[in-house]
Amino acid sequence: MGFSVGGYLEAIRHRDRVFDFLAPQASMNLDVSKGYILYLEDINVSFDGFKAINNLNLYIKEGELRCIIGPNGAGKTTMMDIITGKTRPDSGSAWFGQRLNLLEMDEPEIATAGIGRKFQKPTVFEEHTVFDNLDLAMAGNKNVMALLNARLNTAQKERIAEVMEMIGLADHRYQRAGSLSHGQKQWLEIGMLLMQNPKLLLVDEPVAGMTHQEMDRTAELLNSLAGRHSVVVVEHDMDFVRSIARNVTVLHQGSVLMEGTMDQVQSDPKVKEVYLGE
Ligand code: ADP
Ligand code: MG
Repeated sequence: MGFSVGGYLEAIRHRDRVFDFLAPQASMNLDVSKGYILYLEDINVSFDGFKAINNLNLYIKEGELRCIIGPNGAGKTTMMDIITGKTRPDSGSAWFGQRLNLLEMDEPEIATAGIGRKFQKPTVFEEHTVFDNLDLAMAGNKNVMALLNARLNTAQKERIAEVMEMIGLADHRYQRAGSLSHGQKQWLEIGMLLMQNPKLLLVDEPVAGMTHQEMDRTAELLNSLAGRHSVVVVEHDMDFVRSIARNVTVLHQGSVLMEGTMDQVQSDPKVKEVYLGE
């Protein structure tokens, strides 16, 4: 891609676009003109003859916050493994926007294209400060930034400050990550993902082990991300799901059992049966 000075100054004037500019692959190839960011269609995966994913169809809108629930073994983690390229389905299709065929991309390509994944266990750099963790998380983009001048380094610092604010750790910027609470480490890791400016964030059981207060803060954080990012959250805690999700998808035996609001889902006899059987 070619950078023009005029284009660069234009980008500086619009902060969001500066950050798009820092992740050129994502903004260049991702086509969400139909309003959807993720399409999973007729996906099947078997492990030694056991069907973990069974004709799965799932569509995520751009900017949507979606919760996926379902009993143990429903296929939730396998579904995330397919989206991120860790597991290849036996059949079906998986598209990121209109143009990126996830089944033809490897894990690093998918991450670069703008899909970020937060695993259950936080993996922050314990010996480094909050600020340095966020700085390091941006390292992948630094080659691009080396091409640019100090103005952009200001943008870079602003972005770190903005993310620290979002994750509620602005007052802890010089604190060693290892000394943060469990909940704060989870937020820091979400912050580290945000430094990569993902278009789609996959979050696996974010509130496991959190205090009630931390859960409320996490709900606020994930809600604040929706709109600018698309967020898919896998979660067991029903109170938490109720507090964040407008749309809930119930997975069962590798397929979508139902989709709806939390009220619709919780009063559905099929869903009740599946959870009673757990
Ligand atoms: P969930 O995250 O909803 O609890 P998973 O996606 O982890 O469910 O698992 C779905 C099913 O597939 C489970 O029965 C699990 O044992 C099985 N499974 C998942 N990964 C593998 C694997 N690599 N090899 C064999 N079986 C697997
Ligand atoms: Mg799982």
